[in-house]
Amino acid sequence: MKILHERAVALVKTYLRTETELISVLQEIDLCKGYRDMGFKSLFDYVRSLGLSENVAYNLITISRKSIQVPALKEMIQDQEISLSNAKVIVSILTPENQDKWLQAAAQLPKRELEKEVAKAYPEKVVQETVRYVSDQRTELKMGISDKILEKLKRVQDLESANGAANLERTLEAALDSYLQKNDPLEKAKRSKRLAPARVSQNPRAISAHLNYAVQKRDQAQCTHLQNGKRCTQKRWLDIHHKKPLSQGGQTTLENLILLCKGHHQLLHHG
Ligand SMILES: [Zn+2]
Ligand SMILES: [Zn+2]
Repeated sequence: MKILHERAVALVKTYLRTETELISVLQEIDLCKGYRDMGFKSLFDYVRSLGLSENVAYNLITISRKSIQVPALKEMIQDQEISLSNAKVIVSILTPENQDKWLQAAAQLPKRELEKEVAKAYPEKVVQETVRYVSDQRTELKMGISDKILEKLKRVQDLESANGAANLERTLEAALDSYLQKNDPLEKAKRSKRLAPARVSQNPRAISAHLNYAVQKRDQAQCTHLQNGKRCTQKRWLDIHHKKPLSQGGQTTLENLILLCKGHHQLLHHG
């Protein structure tokens, strides 16, 4: 037994050293975006391709990225002042401003205690948000929510149960459907029966709801900016832009309007 124990101790040492070395290497690959040259979209995809589990890949990457912001984290892991399991506990809340307090806590407290302290100080950060594929068509969604949101969720569940048993998935779907119906211009475009007539309204700046739907529908509610022949994938923070400015006689018509994300819109006007 003694021999086995000694082997275990030695292997753990090697294991920890290997893990910190791996963090350093990943940091370098991350900084030069080297995974792209190897055909991977993200560092995460690359690390997964090395054969590591999602969990391990996620932890290594978050620690390596956090160490760029807080270099003392990696140094203390390397010097074995902080164990990797403790590093994982503080990584989501660690900042350059609070590092003194939390690096010290991670160095001194056992993992359980450390988890309690972090939970006390940052109750909203305790559950990591994850979206994980469990099969082609299904994902597992994990997140922390407040009491207030849980109450709302239960209320929607009660209401939705009128249409048959509503589990959490069905409840979420009902809530999302109702949000999208109300707020998604694409959904509205689907419902709007006719396209906006291409005419100038009385206020040249005013974009009627119909015209807005028509633009959203044609541009698929996505930024239309092209770079090297590839379309920008942004579907958030979209503006409607006049190709020919009103000041130069451009009109508020479907032909003269396009969707641009805030970034590309600003670039166009101020770039
Ligand atoms: Zn514009
Ligand atoms: Zn864009």
